[in-house]
Amino acid sequence: MLDIKITKTTTPKAKPADESKLGFGKIFTDHMFIMNYTEGQGWHDARIVPYENVSLSPAAMVFHYGQEMFEGLKAYRGANGEPRLFRPDMNAKRTNATNERLCIPQLPEEDFVQAVKAVVKVDEDWIPRAAGTSLYIRPFIIATDDFLGVAPSKTYMFMIILSPSGAYYASGLAPVGIWIEDDYVRAVRGGIGFAKTGGNYAASLAAQVKAHDGGYSQVLWLDGVERKYIEEVGAMNIFFKIDGKVVTPALSGSILPGITRNSVITLCKNWGYEVEERKISVDELIEAQNTGKLEEVFGTGTAAVISPVGTLRYKDDVMTIGSGSIGELSQKLYDTVTGIQNGTVADEFGWTVLV
Ligand SMILES: *Cc1c(COP(=O)(O)O)cnc(C)c1O
Repeated sequence: MLDIKITKTTTPKAKPADESKLGFGKIFTDHMFIMNYTEGQGWHDARIVPYENVSLSPAAMVFHYGQEMFEGLKAYRGANGEPRLFRPDMNAKRTNATNERLCIPQLPEEDFVQAVKAVVKVDEDWIPRAAGTSLYIRPFIIATDDFLGVAPSKTYMFMIILSPSGAYYASGLAPVGIWIEDDYVRAVRGGIGFAKTGGNYAASLAAQVKAHDGGYSQVLWLDGVERKYIEEVGAMNIFFKIDGKVVTPALSGSILPGITRNSVITLCKNWGYEVEERKISVDELIEAQNTGKLEEVFGTGTAAVISPVGTLRYKDDVMTIGSGSIGELSQKLYDTVTGIQNGTVADEFGWTVLV
């Protein structure tokens, strides 16, 4: 149990008046959570303070070698306005899997969840109310030693900031166009692909710019060795419905183990679908498309929940999936997951945590 000291702001900000214009990641709430780590002492000084800039040495290790991790989850409002979290224990577990890979000290899972709940509680009024909106929660850890040698830092900061975010889909689920990247790669087995860390994103920007220039909104990565097997999309895992079966790339070490991915697999199995977690090549995908067996393609992630894919571009070919509109399974998954998150659909699996 953390002993969290709370200092409230004396100058609260005005909350955004128009919830249809929240967008993503631009507005921050009145408070943030901070806790320090010092070798020999462990995690200490858990506190919630007014949202403000942090002061670090220019030599702080995070600036030079990228020893850092982050998480992403959301607080939703239920039917009676109550704040709800979706599977925060999974974010806590993934934090420690990332930390282990990056030589960042472990953080007790219950402390992670307690810190998230505590800061959301303090800024509870910042959870927007309009349909589809939520309060995005960004926990992260940075290495803070002022030292230019390459080694794991001996001091860290764990922080949580909060950002009210708009409905991802302003007017219903809209299919996206995806660029299958056949030159740049994101991750390799043995690397840090399974870890939620900034380095993976820094490595992804060049391909993202290329995809945007080509008129596509997201990149679909292929494996880093043969550039043949499908891995995942920018910040989403990817699913295919092929001939009635649900297929998604197996967690090979180079793919981020999404919590939405895990929830979707659980729901599909529960509904009686055959779900295959395995290698899937671009060639198999093209073959399925050419024989009319590729029924649906969708991405899964906290931001969009389910993101139907309307078109896939690979080299000079553009595939239109199904009719280019939303598949039946994609829609059902979206309605079910968002319904559980908002408390309008029964939570059979015990995924909801009240703040
Ligand atoms: C966070 C993330 C996902 C999605 O994970 P969720 O837990 O479902 O939000 C997928 N891919 C990458 C690269 C990510 O960083």
